[in-house]
Amino acid sequence: MGVVTDPITRFAPSPNGPLHLGHAYAAIVAHDRARSGNGEFLLRIEDIDGARSRPELADEFREDLAWLGLTWREVPPQSSRVPHYRAALDSLRAMGLVYPCRCTRADIARNAVRMGPDGPIYPSTCLHTPIAPGPDVAWRLDMQRALPLTGELTGELTWRDERRGLQVANPGLFGDVVLWRKDAPASYHLAATLDDAADGISVVTRGADLFDASHVHRLLQALLGLPVPVWHHHPVLIEADGRKLAKRRGAPALADRRCAGESGAALAASLRAARFDAGISLSEYVDMAA
Ligand code: GLU
Repeated sequence: MGVVTDPITRFAPSPNGPLHLGHAYAAIVAHDRARSGNGEFLLRIEDIDGARSRPELADEFREDLAWLGLTWREVPPQSSRVPHYRAALDSLRAMGLVYPCRCTRADIARNAVRMGPDGPIYPSTCLHTPIAPGPDVAWRLDMQRALPLTGELTGELTWRDERRGLQVANPGLFGDVVLWRKDAPASYHLAATLDDAADGISVVTRGADLFDASHVHRLLQALLGLPVPVWHHHPVLIEADGRKLAKRRGAPALADRRCAGESGAALAASLRAARFDAGISLSEYVDMAA
């Protein structure tokens, strides 16, 4: 976790819907952070989100980024990396750190006794009453076993955010996180951590709304022996009511603005200067439950 001389950053959109202003801001932050040193800006399409994934949107994303005036090197999409994710899951399995789970969201909501940043914490039902592994199970990380092990491997687990400074990792925040999904291959946590390592990302930029997820990623790095980057959690764009900009709440698609003849360069300049459309501002903190 030393000084980052040649920052390698990435923008990693999921093709679940069109990009909007919030994505443009995230891409520009990552791009400019790389260009602030002698670094490199990568594009990675995160297309393993099961039925929600619409890989055909990737072309639209590339056009949007070019319209904003960004240049990048594209690395292979997540869909081409599944064997790599599987191998990591297998090694965690060989270490006795994961267990199969068939619980549904409704089961968890019914049985949970604690709330975490993302909602009810899984009460480790399938750890206490094990189920047989099979093709239709999810795999969860056994935090009770994993946490002491990371201490043994690395000493106190810390990580550094460029804006908020040194952090002591608190990966237990989310309970036994899912690493392998029933309906898709690897979970966000496992895939993003492995990809950032494989792509040589030295500065992981992402919205402050995902700050807590980085605690989990730091743990996975320790367990899997991966290099440790520096993080840069940037503010996120919010609407006048304080909620994060979202396509489902009507944030206009970049593609629509582009096709309507708006200048991408002017939009990028206004984002860099943090001058937004009326009603939109930047916030450090977003209540994801809103
Ligand atoms: N694919 C994720 C998203 O679009 C990436 C988030 C991250 O940077 O880790 O939200």
